[in-house]
Amino acid sequence: MFDDLKGKRVLITGSTAGIGLAAALAFAAQGARIGINGRTNGPQTDSIITQLAAKGGEAAFFRADLTQSSECKKLVDDFVARFGGLDVLINNSGGLGGRCKLEDIDDKFYDRVMDLNARSVLMTTKYAIPHLRDSAARSGETVSVISTGSIAAREGGGVGAGIYAASKAWLHDIHRNWVKEFTADNIRFNIVAPGTIDTAFHDDKSDALKASIADSIAMKRFGRIEEVAPAFLFFGSHALSGYITGQILDVNGGQLAP
Ligand code: NAP
Repeated sequence: MFDDLKGKRVLITGSTAGIGLAAALAFAAQGARIGINGRTNGPQTDSIITQLAAKGGEAAFFRADLTQSSECKKLVDDFVARFGGLDVLINNSGGLGGRCKLEDIDDKFYDRVMDLNARSVLMTTKYAIPHLRDSAARSGETVSVISTGSIAAREGGGVGAGIYAASKAWLHDIHRNWVKEFTADNIRFNIVAPGTIDTAFHDDKSDALKASIADSIAMKRFGRIEEVAPAFLFFGSHALSGYITGQILDVNGGQLAP
């Protein structure tokens, strides 16, 4: 049905586990060339590279802590040095960063959550733009930025997760701005907004809480990482979504219908 991701250079941030890793495996199965990223390198990353190669993708690991702007730049520079350009950027790195009720929030907490979810995407995208623009001009096709948003951006998040939810809403909105600035360059911006997906993200929840959340979802269960990955393929492919930009695709088992 589509084969335009073969050989495409795809950088996926926060991809040594969870949703990002599943996306990497899906792109590998399409024959893409993939940059894997996380803060830690170890035997696990070698095994991921081997898994991706077995699926048909060429991959390399790039260590970077994207809460720091200098590391966002280094990540993009290192990826381009290795693969010669960039065709698809997936801003997936992010996380809760802890829970804090409003009256307990201080500057340190605010900065930690915003750096993790907002600064990381802002700066990685900023440094990626010249390479994406170049790729689009050479290929004559659109290229793609996809960021991982959240159901929390739509409904405000749980108690203590207000800054996290707001940081994801910030992402949902800044994409709309970037559509205005970069559509002339043939760069598309879309969001994949997961609902409640079974990853380490939910490790702080009790089994009882997980059961009650599952009960609130129309499909009565958490999503699986493999069920989110195809949404990234869809937005990454010019053949599948070349006329789609500025959109949010909710992957949430019916937990919320915006
Ligand atoms: P996860 O399983 O905890 O994986 C997080 C990945 O990001 C890991 O590879 C981690 O590797 C990396 N990472 C964390 N902090 C980083 C940093 N500062 N710089 C670079 N890499 C970093 O999380 P997940 O559930 O798949 O979440 C992925 C994205 O989906 C996040 O943006 C999250 O907010 C969003 N999301 C998740 C859910 C859900 O229900 N799971 C719902 C909505 C949205 P290291 O630890 O080695 O750095």
